[in-house]
Amino acid sequence: MSDLYLGCHISIANGFEAAAKDAVSIGANSFQFFTRNPRGGSAKALDENDLKAYEEIAQEHNFGPLLAHAPYTMNLASAKERVREFALEVLLDDYERIKRIKNARYLFHPGSHVGQGVEQGIEYIVTALNKLLKDDQGPWIMLEGMSGKGTEIGYAFDELRQIIQGVNHSKRLGVCLDTCHMHSAGYDIVNDLPGVLKEFDEKIGLDKVRGVHINDNMNQFNSRKDRHAKIGEGSIGTEAIVKFMQTPEFKGLPFNLETPNELDGFAAEIKLLRSLV
Ligand code: FE
Ligand code: FE
Ligand code: ZN
Repeated sequence: MSDLYLGCHISIANGFEAAAKDAVSIGANSFQFFTRNPRGGSAKALDENDLKAYEEIAQEHNFGPLLAHAPYTMNLASAKERVREFALEVLLDDYERIKRIKNARYLFHPGSHVGQGVEQGIEYIVTALNKLLKDDQGPWIMLEGMSGKGTEIGYAFDELRQIIQGVNHSKRLGVCLDTCHMHSAGYDIVNDLPGVLKEFDEKIGLDKVRGVHINDNMNQFNSRKDRHAKIGEGSIGTEAIVKFMQTPEFKGLPFNLETPNELDGFAAEIKLLRSLV
C-alpha cells in the first residue's frame, strides 16, 4: 500500500489487533482510537500479545502512525480545580500508555475556559503540559485545532501558538489539524488554502502538524460550529479536501476520517480519496 496513510476512527473495544484488522478490511493503513471512553473512566489495561499482533499487521500492511484521541470531556482549562486535576491525571496516564503502543501519537482538545477568559485557560493548559513534558523525548503529543464553539480554546492559530510557546519542552508538542474545525473557525481552506497554510507556517510552523482529521463541514464557513459531514456532502467539498491532503508539507502524516459513517461508509471514502489524492 502507498505511503498515503489514511484511515478513520475505529473502536479498540476488542483490542488493537481487531482494530487493525478492521482497518485493513476497509483499505486503511492508519486509524484513530479513543484512549478510554469519552466519559473519561479508567482505561482498559493494555495487553502485550494484542499489541504485538497489531504491530505485525501494521508492519505487513505498511501502516503509518496511529492517532490516540484523549476523551473529549478532558478539560485542562476548567475553572474548577477538581476538573483540572482529573484532566491532568488522565493526560499523565494516557501518555504513559501511548508510549507502549508502537507508532502512536497522542492528541487532545486544548480545553474550554468556560467563562474565565482565554488567557487564564491557556495558562492552565500550559501548566498541565509543563507537568507532563519533562524532556524532549516521547511520542508526539498534539493540540487539536478546534472550531471555536462555546468557549473552546485553540481554534485560532494564535492561541495554539501561545500554548506551544508557553511549554518548556515543546519539541514533541505539535498540532492535529481538523479540516472541518479549521473551516468553521474561519480559515478559508476552500478559497484560500495557500493563505491559510502561510499563516499557520508563520505563526506555528507547518512542521508542527503531525496528524490530520479529514472531515467535511455540515455548517458554513466561520460558523464556529462543530458538526462533521461526509466527504463531498458539506460546505468544504471533495476538491478542497483533496487539495488540502496534497499539501507537500503534509506528506507522510496520518490522515484520519471522522465523518458520520460505519465501516462500509469509511471504506468508500478511503477508496475515493486514495483515487484522488
Ligand atoms: Fe477531536
Ligand atoms: Fe477532529
Ligand atoms: Zn469535530
